[in-house]
Amino acid sequence: MYNTKAYSAASATSPMSSTQIARRDPTEHDVQIEILFCGICHSDLHSVRNEWSSIISTVYPIVPGHEIVGRVTEVGSAVTKYKPGDLAAVGCLVDSDGTCLNCKAGLENFCPNQILTFNSPDKHLGGVTYGGYSDSIVVDERFVLRVPSNLDLAGAAPLLCAGITTYSPMRHWGVTEGKKVGLVGLGGLGHMGVKFAHAFGAHVVVFTTSPDKKEDALRLGADEVVVSRNADEMQKHAGSFDFILDTVSAKHDINAYLNLLRLDGNITLVGAPEKPLDVAAFSLIMARRSLSGSNIGGIPETQEMLDFCGKHNITADVEVIPIQKVNEAYDRLLKSDVKYRFVIDMASLKSE
Ligand code: NAP
Ligand code: ZN
Repeated sequence: MYNTKAYSAASATSPMSSTQIARRDPTEHDVQIEILFCGICHSDLHSVRNEWSSIISTVYPIVPGHEIVGRVTEVGSAVTKYKPGDLAAVGCLVDSDGTCLNCKAGLENFCPNQILTFNSPDKHLGGVTYGGYSDSIVVDERFVLRVPSNLDLAGAAPLLCAGITTYSPMRHWGVTEGKKVGLVGLGGLGHMGVKFAHAFGAHVVVFTTSPDKKEDALRLGADEVVVSRNADEMQKHAGSFDFILDTVSAKHDINAYLNLLRLDGNITLVGAPEKPLDVAAFSLIMARRSLSGSNIGGIPETQEMLDFCGKHNITADVEVIPIQKVNEAYDRLLKSDVKYRFVIDMASLKSE
């Protein structure tokens, strides 16, 4: 066991502040990584403020962060895929049972015994797992990913959650050339979704509540932008979408989007608001529409997504901040004021 610097919150109402946490010494299958960059996901904020307590209560202190890129510093004796000096990444998962049907299918993201990067039981040290707002992390090599060497490292960090969470459902629901695809919310997840849908050749429409994001949406790859508070603009797209990915982090009217789907169209929710959404039966039954959800992605698909990004030179648009600005970043996230992912430069933690 060794100590490493981190940022944690002591309660749902406390600001994030500097602390020390314990990490295990690498066991034979472990990879130890010096963290260089960690993205800030809205899930970090939901968890820090215990907004998902009906599903998973937050154990304090919490060290969030699951968009991790860094450099390998040490490996266990049985590790074959990584060596010291390699670039490596860790996303939302650090373990799973490896034996259930979902794990066997490479869908560790649906394993009932999955261990999340933060706020999950830590079978090695007791207590809960601690995430990427930290100097270093120790992870089983099965959950460590390779970062294509051509990608900017700060821009690559958000691929580990925002990237895979949007890539996976679009692959599942067959987003390809000729399909009309909507992205609701242009934040961290939404802007990655636009990049992927565009790369897959779809006709991409962004729905935003922020009119000032219109130009960015077009630059990121959207073909059209709709300001969702404008009912006339929305009505023009009624019954026309094959697929819509909803990335909104707060309560909103899902029926307004269901009505934009064509026959057999699907909306997938990845946004996880604290409060339930109301679904009107008629929004679904009149066109055999479906509403579904999706949780990040499995390890093989996460590597596939990273390789796809390497090939197509896709990274997130990031605002790199020192860790001392994390509380300010959370406030801005709540105002939809992020273009389009905050990423912490972990070198800033060394001065704490
Ligand atoms: P984010 O960067 O804060 O983006 C959310 C966007 O939603 C905002 O930029 C805004 O876009 C829109 N929005 C916010 N409040 C709204 C409101 N009241 N009404 C309508 N639109 C609103 O957040 P994120 O990191 O992308 O995460 C988005 C959600 O996905 C969070 O709930 C997060 O926990 C969840 N998530 C889920 C998974 C999963 O596996 N399912 C993985 C990661 C994250 P506009 O300004 O364009 O309107
Ligand atoms: Zn996330």
